[in-house]
Amino acid sequence: MTDIVVVGSLNVDVVVPLHELPAPGQTVLGAADHRRTGGGKGANQAVAAARLGRRVAMVGAVGIDADGDWLLGLIAAEGVATESVLRAPRPTGQAIVLVTADGDSTIAVSSGANMWLAPEHLAPLRDLLGSARAVLLQQEVDAAVVAEAVRLAEGLVVLNPAPARPVDPATLARVDVLVPNRGELAALAGAPPTDAGVDGLAAMARSLGTRGPVVVTLGGDGALVVTTDRQWLVPAEQVDAVDATGAGDTFCAALADALLDGAAIDEAARWASRAAAVTVTRPGAMAAAPRRAEVPTAA
Ligand code: ATP
Repeated sequence: MTDIVVVGSLNVDVVVPLHELPAPGQTVLGAADHRRTGGGKGANQAVAAARLGRRVAMVGAVGIDADGDWLLGLIAAEGVATESVLRAPRPTGQAIVLVTADGDSTIAVSSGANMWLAPEHLAPLRDLLGSARAVLLQQEVDAAVVAEAVRLAEGLVVLNPAPARPVDPATLARVDVLVPNRGELAALAGAPPTDAGVDGLAAMARSLGTRGPVVVTLGGDGALVVTTDRQWLVPAEQVDAVDATGAGDTFCAALADALLDGAAIDEAARWASRAAAVTVTRPGAMAAAPRRAEVPTAA
C-alpha cells in the first residue's frame, strides 16, 4: 500500500547565480555556472517523504521531452513511484531562479505540463488516491485538480496552500491539516499581508473552516500549531542557516510522515521542524531534504 500520494508540480529549476538581480529591461551577466536541479513543490515534497522512508507515489504531469525523462529518472532514483505522472503535450515546467550571493532571488515559473493536468486525469487514479494513507497537496497545479484529488482521498489530507491562491470551502472543509506560511494564511483568510502576532494568526487560521489543525510555518521563528481551542509555538531549531529554500517542503513531508505514525499534531510539528532545520543547513531544495537517520532525535 502507498503511504503518501503527492499531487503536485514537477519542475526543472535552472538556478543562475548573479552578483545583482537585473532591473526590468536590464541584462546582467552571471559570473558562475548555472545549475539545473529537480524542483516543483510536488516533486520536492515527494522526495522529502521518500527520504524519510515512506512509500510515495507522485501524481502530476511532465512534458514528452528530455526534461520530463530527466525529472522522472531523478525522483524514481529517490524511490518515488512515477507511474502516475502523466506525459503532457506541453513542455515540462521550468523555474528560472536568479540568485545573488546574499540570498536575494527572483523566480519566474513557466508551469507548462503542471497546469495541463486536469481533474478528469484523476479518474483512473481513483484507487490510488482512495487507498493512500495520506494525500499531500500544494497549489502549483490547477485548483480544480486539487479539489478533485481531495474529493477522492479517503485517508489523511494535508494541504500546503502554496503559492497563495483561493481554495474553495468544500476543499478546506475536507483538509485534515493545512500548512500555510504567514502570507498564504493571510491570503486565505482574506486579510492584508500581516505582522499579526500569535493570537491574530490563530484567529485567521480558525476562520478558515478546516476540519483539523492549521500549522503556520514562520521561517526562522518556528511554526504555530492552531487547533479549535489551543495554539502554541514550536520554536525553530537553532542551526547555521545556509539556504532556507525547500524548508517548507521538507516540513510538510515530515509532518505527514509523523502523523502516519500516529503522532499528535504537536509532536508531528516538532519532528517536521527538526527535519526542516536540516534542509536549512544545506544548499538547494530537493537535494537538501534529509534522510530519516539525518534528522536529530528529540532532545
Ligand atoms: P519554502 O517555500 O521556501 O519552502 P515556506 O515559506 O513554505 O518556505 P518556512 O516558513 O520558511 O516555509 O519554513 C518552514 C519551516 O522550516 C519553519 O516552520 C521552520 O520549522 C523551518 N525553518 C525555516 N527557516 C529556518 C531557520 N532559519 N532555522 C531553523 N528552522 C527554519
